[in-house]
Amino acid sequence: MISDSVFAGIICNKTGSLIVFLHTIGKGASCPYCGHFSHRLHSYHSHHIQDLEVYDYALELVIKVGKYYCDKVCCPRKIFCEPLSFLTRWYGRRNYLVEERIRSISLELTSRKASSILRLFYITASSSSCLRILYTL
Ligand SMILES: [Zn+2]
Repeated sequence: MISDSVFAGIICNKTGSLIVFLHTIGKGASCPYCGHFSHRLHSYHSHHIQDLEVYDYALELVIKVGKYYCDKVCCPRKIFCEPLSFLTRWYGRRNYLVEERIRSISLELTSRKASSILRLFYITASSSSCLRILYTL
């Protein structure tokens, strides 16, 4: 269990990587712009998040989250996606552990070498992504 608000689903093998399907079990979420808590569900969205390798397999988390209406009149955001701030940044495609590994390897090597070394850990990050993550210290 990753968090109290996430339920683990199936694990399957596809093209040499593990994909773990999860979905949140909350009955609402707080708007990340105004903080208003909403129960009014709009639809669902799947986040694909890269995680650290497991037993020499790349690991991808596919998390089904709710999109909710923000009913606060003064809020500029009318629909928002349930945040996964315990796992990744807003709109992040890698979890914090993967970003930390990219950051630690990029500190020691050039960005091109870091990008190629990271492939050994099944982490796909371009040299510019390595630099961008390094600058977000
Ligand atoms: Zn709002």
